[in-house]
Amino acid sequence: MRIDLHTHSTASDGTESPAAVMRHAREAGLDVVALTDHDTTGGWDEAAAALPDGLTLVRGAEISAIDGDGISLHMLGYLFDPDEPEFARARELVRTDRVRRARAMVDRCVELGAPITWERVVEIAGDGAVGRPHVATALVEAGVVADVSGAFTPEWLKDGGRAFVDKYEISAADAVRMIRAAGGVAVFAHPGATKRGRTVSDASIAGLAEAGLSGLEVDHLDHDDAMRAHLRGLAAEFDLVTTGSSDYHGSRKTVEIGRFTTDPEAFEAIADRAHGVPLLRP
Ligand code: AMP
Ligand code: FE
Ligand code: FE
Ligand code: ZN
Repeated sequence: MRIDLHTHSTASDGTESPAAVMRHAREAGLDVVALTDHDTTGGWDEAAAALPDGLTLVRGAEISAIDGDGISLHMLGYLFDPDEPEFARARELVRTDRVRRARAMVDRCVELGAPITWERVVEIAGDGAVGRPHVATALVEAGVVADVSGAFTPEWLKDGGRAFVDKYEISAADAVRMIRAAGGVAVFAHPGATKRGRTVSDASIAGLAEAGLSGLEVDHLDHDDAMRAHLRGLAAEFDLVTTGSSDYHGSRKTVEIGRFTTDPEAFEAIADRAHGVPLLRP
């Protein structure tokens, strides 16, 4: 069984439609894939309708959150009820603020001399929850940077960078609680991704475990071997499952779908704990 529990589509900052991500997942030999767009379930229906034979879909989302030390992080929620009102409202608030914040980042870029426009960023984002990768793509098109990751620097969009603007984020403990209250399961995405900025403390992870966190995403491109070993230790200490995932974004990142995978036992533990929406099999 090949299981990839973290992918993005055009519903957020991936470059492939939800249907294309499903096709691509099966072609890559996956048996299970989770669609986890940022702060939205907008890709779920299209993905479900396009599910190829032999592929199981885990409906999910990756929630923008902030921990008690003020560190931004991503919380994966799996198999939650999308209509549970409190959590649905929270995702909507984050998405709405993403628009304000992306506009502000475009304004900063223009002030800094980059010839990009908000209209173009809106075209690039389409129906997707707008984010820095869409602004980054506009910077690439304008010839300001060579590629998307070239825009994630202190000169431009990296956390704390010249053109970076904060967005509204849910407290991480609230994100965990809301995911659980909606019948879902919470897994902390790339908790040790140091290249993205400061990472959360072990104490903070302990607090999230207390709040109902079920797992840590350990095998991820942004984690080196030492970080993986450290996270496995924490998972054992706090009785959390560990997962591995590609965090596929289509052509906006170089990582291939299925690059990292999750053990069947961890996947089963996640699926067993969830009761918001079922796994989907064609
Ligand atoms: P946002 O959610 O708008 O703050 O943007 C964060 C997103 O930017 C992440 O989900 C990644 O998809 C992308 N990202 C973050 N760091 C990098 C990087 N160094 N290179 C390319 N994409 C990145
Ligand atoms: Fe992303
Ligand atoms: Fe993430
Ligand atoms: Zn992601």
